[in-house]
Amino acid sequence: MTDPQCVFCQIATGQIPVDPVFQNEEFLAFRDINPQAPVHVLVIPKAHYPTLMEVNDPQVLGRALRVVQETVTLLGIDREGFRTVINCRANGGQTVFHLHIHVLGGRHMQWPPG
Ligand code: AMP
Ligand code: ZN
Repeated sequence: MTDPQCVFCQIATGQIPVDPVFQNEEFLAFRDINPQAPVHVLVIPKAHYPTLMEVNDPQVLGRALRVVQETVTLLGIDREGFRTVINCRANGGQTVFHLHIHVLGGRHMQWPPG
């Protein structure tokens, strides 16, 4: 369930240290290295799923969104709002092939996205 070549697996196992915003046994939330908003956090499962499409258990996704709720509450952006994004595969603009949910906030988001 871990890919030693995968940068987010390396973060999940502690090989690459990050300052977690939130974590539990199954998920980790940490700040994006190249933030696109005043708040830009990534929520990842510690298990390796290359993309959204490899997640067969919908309860994993439900628990991930629960972690998003906990994370935005800790960050204090739960009331003002935020955006969640999952980029999937080539047309989705995915660059790191370990499932992650972007959590963006701290400013008003535009629509549609690029
Ligand atoms: P995506 O384009 O949806 O695959 O998003 C990948 C995100 O991972 C980008 O926003 C990157 O800035 C971010 N990222 C890549 N490497 C790291 C890292 N070592 N620590 C934190 N964020 C990272
Ligand atoms: Zn991985």
